[in-house]
Amino acid sequence: MTRTCELIAVGTELLLGEIVNTDGAYIASRLKNVGVNVYYQTVVGDNPERLASVLREAAARSDVIVTTGGLGPTYDDLTKEVICRVFGKKLVRDEDSLRHIRDFFGRIGRVMTPNNEKQADLPEGAAVFKNHWGTAPGCAFESGKNTVIMLPGPPSECEPMTDAYVIPYLTRPEEGVLTSRFIRIWDVGESAVEDKLHDLMTGSTNPTVAPYAKSGSVQLRVAAKAPTAEEGFALCEPTVEKILTLFGGNAYEENGTGLPGYVFSLLRERGLTLSAAESCTGGLISKLMTDLPGVSEVYMGGVCTYSNEAKSALLGIDPALIREKGAVSGEVAREMAERVRERFRTDLGIGVTGIAGPGGGTAEKPVGLVYIALADRNMTEVRKCSFGTLRRTRERIRTDAANTALDMVRRRLTGDGGSK
Ligand code: ATP
Repeated sequence: MTRTCELIAVGTELLLGEIVNTDGAYIASRLKNVGVNVYYQTVVGDNPERLASVLREAAARSDVIVTTGGLGPTYDDLTKEVICRVFGKKLVRDEDSLRHIRDFFGRIGRVMTPNNEKQADLPEGAAVFKNHWGTAPGCAFESGKNTVIMLPGPPSECEPMTDAYVIPYLTRPEEGVLTSRFIRIWDVGESAVEDKLHDLMTGSTNPTVAPYAKSGSVQLRVAAKAPTAEEGFALCEPTVEKILTLFGGNAYEENGTGLPGYVFSLLRERGLTLSAAESCTGGLISKLMTDLPGVSEVYMGGVCTYSNEAKSALLGIDPALIREKGAVSGEVAREMAERVRERFRTDLGIGVTGIAGPGGGTAEKPVGLVYIALADRNMTEVRKCSFGTLRRTRERIRTDAANTALDMVRRRLTGDGGSK
């Protein structure tokens, strides 16, 4: 049976917007794989009464409760005390945790003050989650229909503890595992995707199909529950195939590393190399590619030629062409792609030039106009894109441009669609 869960982030700084609740996002993304549905996420300050009331409400409406934060040594760290009060548990010192905390201070060469000992106090009978990444241990206990889990706040501790302890603690092999496969669809709006897939999305239960709109594309998650991950993968297969067929060259199945990772694997499979000359994207394509370890095998590098002078000096583009056509033009994008390809001696070269805004647009060349060129030894494709519709920020325009460039590489390599 699927369990429901409420995540409670404790911390006044979260309430004040001084830090963002990334712990909540991380834990939620992990729990969905083990059949635990997060129905509520609550943020509450370091206040014992309000925390107690949130806990009571959570205990009534959810099976699993996971708290983050407030396990530290200071007076405002009160999660454990309040939880013990609400669930009628005694706080007892855990000698093993105390030793671990002492060792930790010894290792980092800091003096351990008496209030640090308090971090070793845990609800009686709780399963202890040893903190290999910091001091305060996490823990879990059962109380009636509730499973209560406490985790430390710092993401560098909370995230690995979630993977190492929480997921195994909550996994019930008899409930099976949830396996997800992801499909990315480019150049089709989210509502058009939903329209085409309406019956599949509303009619299927195992696997399920759910959309996520991402910058410039739509991501679909096809998820199936089965006794093993392999069986879940196979259960998704007909649905994945159906969707890929429906959207043709606009769709592909991607792994966890997204479009850059997909382009990386295509280039590697085909033994091809890539370089990029970027103007309005300011090096974003290089960043996306070099985020991937080992990518130097296929991505030789790039240049950020932001000014007209740089375009001429570094790529050898004729200043007269830039004067005549403008730096934001199909002709200059083409030159950038062809020249960078020559200079880096790569099989493929990307050139991107455009107006990211917010200023600098004209009626003829509005904000969001971006020319993207892709050159190989046989041909250069130039695409004119308009990313500047309502509410598009500079960042969004740049991201759309970088992703579109990589998608052009994907299409070239898979033979899906030529120039647009
Ligand atoms: P410590 O032992 O470090 O005191 P703690 O469990 O008491 O850990 P808090 O004192 O509540 O945790 O928070 C410590 C730090 O962890 C915060 O300053 C913040 O940087 C980070 N943090 C806390 N909660 C969250 C959260 N929900 N999401 C992201 N970061 C968080």
